[in-house]
Amino acid sequence: MNIILFGPPGVGKGTQADNMVKNFNLHKISTGDMLRDEIKKNTDLSKKIKSKIDQGLLVSDEIISDLIVKILSKKKYLNRLIFDGYPRNLDQAKSLDLLVKKYNQKISCVLNLIIDKETIIKRILGRLVCTKCDLTFNKYFNPPQKEKYDCNLKHLKIRSDDNENTIKNRIEVYTKKTLPILDYYADQRILYKIDGTRKINKVYKEICDIIASLGT
Ligand SMILES: [Zn+2]
Repeated sequence: MNIILFGPPGVGKGTQADNMVKNFNLHKISTGDMLRDEIKKNTDLSKKIKSKIDQGLLVSDEIISDLIVKILSKKKYLNRLIFDGYPRNLDQAKSLDLLVKKYNQKISCVLNLIIDKETIIKRILGRLVCTKCDLTFNKYFNPPQKEKYDCNLKHLKIRSDDNENTIKNRIEVYTKKTLPILDYYADQRILYKIDGTRKINKVYKEICDIIASLGT
């Protein structure tokens, strides 16, 4: 079972992916992590990546494909992948289809966590980080209650990149880029829409139900 997970910033995608990794024994593919891991090695590929980044260029779709192949070709990850933050465009989606076929696998489902703009903004603006211990809270969804934590309220700060304009911009970019990919998977009838405004465990329950319905 290979799964692709979509959702805008603030929908709780990371938490859901972590739950799925744990409970279904899956391996999460994040291209950011893969790039960072590869750079640490001294390979031809890592040199290519370094030179792109040093020149301030985007890492090409081709390099990303090479990294994906490395994972898809490993027996231990066979049909056990969650793609988080990939594919990012229609070309990558098409190339991923070819790659999974080549390695005798398939994408079982594409989970799209949906949330309205107002709720995202509220969620993200509510994020608080404790400057002493790095614990994160949310004013609205996970308030720092005195009974549960000993963080001093005066140490809780809003994250600096979390302001309404940058959030709106991130959502717009995300929506624009993702719509064509979602249409592509809807045509293949493997796209599932999930209401991401609900509580984390409710959303997770629905994800589990979808996975169970796949019968794999
Ligand atoms: Zn603290």
